[in-house]
Formats: sequence, C-alpha cells, structure tokens
Amino acid sequence: MKVAFVGLGNMGGGMAANLVKAGHAVNAFDLSPEALTRARDNGCATFTSAREAVVGVDAVVSMLPNGKIVASVFENDILGHAPTGTILLDCSTIDVGTSRSVTAAAVAAGYEMVDAPVSGGIAAANGGTLTFMVGGTDAAIARAQPILAAMGKAVIHAGASGAGQAAKICNNMLLGASMIATCETFAMAEKLGLDLQTFYDISSKASGQNWSMTSYCPVPGVGPTTPADNDYQGGFATALMLKDLKLAMEAASLVDADVPMGLRAAELYEKFDAAGKGGLDFSAIIQTLKD
Ligand code: NAD
Repeated sequence: MKVAFVGLGNMGGGMAANLVKAGHAVNAFDLSPEALTRARDNGCATFTSAREAVVGVDAVVSMLPNGKIVASVFENDILGHAPTGTILLDCSTIDVGTSRSVTAAAVAAGYEMVDAPVSGGIAAANGGTLTFMVGGTDAAIARAQPILAAMGKAVIHAGASGAGQAAKICNNMLLGASMIATCETFAMAEKLGLDLQTFYDISSKASGQNWSMTSYCPVPGVGPTTPADNDYQGGFATALMLKDLKLAMEAASLVDADVPMGLRAAELYEKFDAAGKGGLDFSAIIQTLKD
C-alpha cells in the first residue's frame, strides 16, 4: 500500500520505518527537518507539506502531539486532499471529543477513519511491538488492520469512534493513580521500619499486588529492573503521564464521572512536573512522597 505518515517524532519515526520494512511505500511529512532526514534514511519518501504527502495514497497515519494539531492537520491538509475513500488512522493520544469530531468530519468528506492510540513507548514503536486500542466501525478497522499489524503486536477493537482514546486514558488514569498508591505505600513501609525487598516479597504475592509494583517497581534494587534502577531515566516521562491525566480529567467532566483518585493523581503529577521533573520517569514521584 501507499501510506502517508504525518508526525515522525519519537514514536512516529520508528512506526514509519516499520511500515517501510513491511513493504509499504511511505510518504512522510513532519515540520522538523531532522525528523524528515531520519525518515529518508529509513526509506520513506519525504515531502514539504502534509497536503502533498497525501496525494494518491491508500492510507494516512498521523502521530502528532495533541488534539489541536490533529484537528488542524486533518481539516486543512488531509480531508479533500487525500483521495476520497482513503482509510485514515490517527495514532496520537488526544481528547475523546476532538477524536470524534475529526472522524465525523472525515466521514462527512467521504473517508473512513479510526482512532488508534498506542500502549508502549519509544522502544515498542521502534521494535514494532505496540498495542493499538482502536475505535471505529468494523469495516474501517478491517481496512486499518494490515497497517496497524506492521507497527504493533496487538490490535484491540475498543468500540465505536473515540473508544480507542477512551480506553487509553481510562487505562492511564488507573496507572497514574496506582503508581502513586504504590509509591506512598513503599515510602510508608520504609518509615515503619520494614525492609523494602521483604515488603515487596509479601505484597507482590498478597492482595496489594499491582502492575506498578511487580512490573515497574518504583524502588531501586527491588523487584525487576525498572527505570528506578537507572536514576529514573528512560521509561514513561512524567510530562506524558501528566498529559494523559489531563485528558482523563477532560473526559471525566465531559461525561460527569466522579474520579477523586484520578484527580488527585493529576494534581500530584502537575506539582511534580512544575518542580522541573517532567523528564523523569513517572515512578520518580516516589521521591516527593518519601521527603
Ligand atoms: P514528539 O514530539 O517526539 O513527535 C511529534 C512530532 O510531530 C514532532 O516530530 C513534530 O515536529 C511533529 N509535528 C508537530 N506538529 C506538526 C504538524 N502540524 N505537521 C507535521 N508534523 C508536526 O512526540 P511523540 O513522543 O512521538 O508522541 C506522539 C504522540 O504519541 C503523542 O500524542 C503522545 O502522547 C503519544 N504517545 C507517546 C508515547 C511516548 O512514549 N513518547 C507513548 C504513547 C503515546
């Protein structure tokens, strides 16, 4: 297939390269000249605008920073410029409302579109092992499937348009809240004089067990190797967790959901980010709970 790819940053760069490896012809566009050079080195054809990149393609994939940019790129440069009937896939993490309205505009203009945000970070994007949570009609998802399969290891149909984004932010709200609960628990265990490896051995086999503890332990030297063992470098940046928690709070107010734990997690990550810690892995928030 001929695929246009817009947004070749940390995530999109590796995803576009995997489409090329799978045998697709990729037309690439990004505002950043460095990103375009990397795309060219990875076998993509490069263009000076999204509008030019989408001419004559079978599919368009976007991996952009936020909903405002996604709406503007689709409205100005993709709809009416890509051939009618092209399958459109937005893989960015954006708010549910914008995702639904961009899809509605695409459908009104004669396209099929899915929201397909990802789970997995830069390593999974480079390695082609992302998990996609997809919202859209059965027909649109069937058309998107071969493109997503070239970039990931799992494609899960979450429901109608916007359901992919809804699943992504619900999951990440739970992750943010459970990470903070895990951090405060280890900080308290330490103050109560418990040996932290011993507490891990107990709680990881008891009812407090959760993913933030057993797969991503925030305490250096305890549990599996995690960003905590690397001074909280790499992993999933606090700034990205904060972005997802803000999207979750927007979604909660859209549907009048009561989310006191998600709200508290958003407040605590906001404070941590404002203290200049946005580049650290999100498990580093244990530092503030210990102090
Ligand atoms: P990034 O900032 O590295 O990349 C975004 C790219 O979009 C940049 O190269 C930028 O130049 C380009 N861009 C911005 N505006 C543009 C425009 N109008 N036209 C064309 N290109 C434009 O961000 P990223 O880490 O690759 O994240 C992309 C998306 O993936 C975000 O929505 C993010 O929330 C989501 N995500 C990221 C991760 C992660 O670990 N980085 C994990 C899951 C999901």
